[in-house]
Amino acid sequence: MATLAPTAHLQLPFFDAAHQQLAADLSVWAAKQQVDEQDDRQACREWVRRLGQAGWLRHCVPAAFGGARAQLDSRTLVILRETLAFYSPLADFAFAMQGLGSGAITLAGTAAQKSRYLPAVAGGELIAAFALSEEQAGSDAGAMSTSATLGPSGTVTLHGSKTWISNGGMADYYCVFAKTDAQAGTRGITAFIVDAATPGLDASEHIAVMAPHPLATLHFDQCQLPADAQLGELHGGFKLAMRTLDIFRASVAAAALGMARRALALAVDYAQARPMFGQRLADFQLTQAKLGEMVALVDAGAMLTYRAAWLRDCVGTEGAQQARDYTAAAAMAKMVATENAQRVIDMALQMHGGMGVRVGSKIESLYRDIRALRIYEGATEVQLLILGKSLLRAASSPTQ
Ligand SMILES: Cc1cc2nc3c(=O)[nH]c(=O)nc-3n(C[C@H](O)[C@H](O)[C@H](O)COP(=O)(O)OP(=O)(O)OC[C@H]3O[C@@H](n4cnc5c(N)ncnc54)[C@H](O)[C@@H]3O)c2cc1C
Repeated sequence: MATLAPTAHLQLPFFDAAHQQLAADLSVWAAKQQVDEQDDRQACREWVRRLGQAGWLRHCVPAAFGGARAQLDSRTLVILRETLAFYSPLADFAFAMQGLGSGAITLAGTAAQKSRYLPAVAGGELIAAFALSEEQAGSDAGAMSTSATLGPSGTVTLHGSKTWISNGGMADYYCVFAKTDAQAGTRGITAFIVDAATPGLDASEHIAVMAPHPLATLHFDQCQLPADAQLGELHGGFKLAMRTLDIFRASVAAAALGMARRALALAVDYAQARPMFGQRLADFQLTQAKLGEMVALVDAGAMLTYRAAWLRDCVGTEGAQQARDYTAAAAMAKMVATENAQRVIDMALQMHGGMGVRVGSKIESLYRDIRALRIYEGATEVQLLILGKSLLRAASSPTQ
């Protein structure tokens, strides 16, 4: 029988009965899925199809456009990503990209854009992607050089390249962020919806990374976009990208948490089964201390993740102070949960001895799966800066 994701933490006051039911139903569903993940692109398509058919992708979009709830619920996203990542990090990736690739449309799309894209994303019929990064503009996204030039009739000419784009080469559309005013820095960026079949778009340059994850570089060669491709306000693209990332930041922490919980479960099972020096590995105090450290690291990441999601759902981000509090809480959750998960998975691998590095073992793949989470959607160093600046701001104006 497959190892089941733990559920005791769902009794914490962060969650309600609907969250608990969702987690229980999802865990039963996810434990039953068998997807061959040797070809990550094919597997990702299959996960999107299954997640769509089973209704899980409905949690990525609002109810008015085929979603499950009136508004996106951060705690639901956290439960979904934590549980999916426990069973399959690629399933989590497929789910997360449907949310990230449609989030800007949910936040700023016209009624026509929402009707065209969101129900199909929720059903798994369209694969979504989010294209912000460039070779010279990763952490410093405002340094992007891809340009969007507006013509007299409202049409747009898109030119430049985006890289590290998840679902690149397999998405049906991309939310692309481009400079509409080259001199205005982050205030000169606008978002556009670019259909994959747009002439001049080449997404064939795939990027191979250490864990299954479909990625590509996108080249836009004077792509002509219709006037209704603009997403949100002119020059409002950077803010829109940050608002989109903000929704999903706590859920990246949750994905790391799911992987860490799986590693911990594997370590406990292995330590109890492995005979050593006439005892079991688990009987040694050194092993017990390691397991103790691992469970504390997992719980620390969990509390911060759930707090961030709860803040967004139950306190909100409308007021300036609320928005600041949530941003800091999400940054802390993302940093601590991903860093702690890396340590937990490394400790679990060490406990497995040679089996831990054997290609094809679950712990070996988790060791590769976790690494990129400390880099994308804001590297750990970026989260540290957010936290440090937030603390200094609060100290210099204590009434805020
Ligand atoms: C698997 C994967 C999937 C991705 N998916 C997408 C996607 O779907 N869409 C998209 O747009 N992008 C995506 N990205 C890109 C990702 O967001 C960038 O890799 C990330 O923003 C870091 O940018 P960079 O790689 O250019 O590194 P750089 O910006 O060059 O940063 C390098 C390192 O410098 C350090 N650093 C950063 N800022 C500071 C600072 N202020 N002070 C000191 N040190 C600092 C950090 O350690 C950082 O890792 C993905 C990346 C990966 C690896």
